[in-house]
Amino acid sequence: MSELHDTYDRKIDYLRLSITDRCNLRCRYCMPEEGVAVKPHTDMMSYEEIIAFAHLAAKAGISRIRLTGGEPLVRKGVVELVSSLSAIEEIKEVSITTNGILLAQHAQDLFNAGLRRVNISIDSLDPLIYTKMTRWGQLDQALAGMDAALAVGMVPVKINAVVLKNVNDDLEPFAQLTMDYPVHVRFIEYMPAFYEEGHDNFISGEELEAKIFALGSVDKSESPGGAGPARYFKLAGAQGTLGLIGSSKGHFCESCNRLRLTADGKLRTCLFSDQEIDLLPALRGGSPQDLMNLIERALREKPKDRFARREGKINRKMSQIGG
Ligand code: SAM
Ligand code: SF4
Ligand code: SF4
Repeated sequence: MSELHDTYDRKIDYLRLSITDRCNLRCRYCMPEEGVAVKPHTDMMSYEEIIAFAHLAAKAGISRIRLTGGEPLVRKGVVELVSSLSAIEEIKEVSITTNGILLAQHAQDLFNAGLRRVNISIDSLDPLIYTKMTRWGQLDQALAGMDAALAVGMVPVKINAVVLKNVNDDLEPFAQLTMDYPVHVRFIEYMPAFYEEGHDNFISGEELEAKIFALGSVDKSESPGGAGPARYFKLAGAQGTLGLIGSSKGHFCESCNRLRLTADGKLRTCLFSDQEIDLLPALRGGSPQDLMNLIERALREKPKDRFARREGKINRKMSQIGG
């Protein structure tokens, strides 16, 4: 099987694929209430274009694809897309990152289409705080999504929570969730470079780690499947784990295995780099070799680490990249 390696000899086998910049929530740390100006459909990759690119990338060495957005479940036909991606011989895993609001109604179909792993963003287990953070989200809908994912047999089910000081920094309810369910909660350090609204409530990864250890008897734990940016801990007697994704330190750059493709067809070499390689012209009028040349260029130009970037705001919001 072919392999892709970048200039720093990191093996690149993971594609984070955004399929829309639209969303049914407005999380305060992600976008303003009025949303982000969305692009017309003609500027977005069609499913045919996405699938064509996935075939080529899989032949070249990509073996895992994560669908993200915006909110991937708001785009019609996502189940069929999962089916088509899962059917690609070299693709070993298709997963999704979702806010869970529409997951209950799609979980069984997604599972049947080949999806096994799901990350659900749920920032608080308190209904009022959840609604405050998402502007209008209903916690019971997101939790119904989690229940459905577990019921149909998705493994692992991970819960992402961006933590803001004095807003949702009571970690105890999440600790209890890992006692009651086999879910893996990851506390994410808020990244102000993407959207500044949570700036005054920043809480660092180090503070979050101290809070995890203050929860009780906690041991370091293995990652629940797959290499990734999180470090995991387990409370005595828990079914699930607690994880930490701190961005301001480390960010596992030395073992980075990923490329990102935005919904409008731009290949991004690093979460913290503004560099974009436009695939749309090649997808619409070029040859497979043209596309391959662009992938190779991304590998050549992928930065060594996040510190390669200058300070300051990133040119897209997280919802326009996919996290
Ligand atoms: N809508 C889906 C969701 O919320 O899971 C997928 C897209 S969302 C952009 C992907 C992830 O980015 C979510 O877990 C979200 O919490 C995270 N995120 C968004 N803005 C962020 C920020 N400023 N700092 C840290 N994480 C952020
Ligand atoms: Fe939407 Fe996800 Fe951003 Fe929340 S974090 S506004 S659910 S894209
Ligand atoms: Fe990879 Fe960039 Fe994230 Fe580092 S900051 S892990 S290089 S995407």
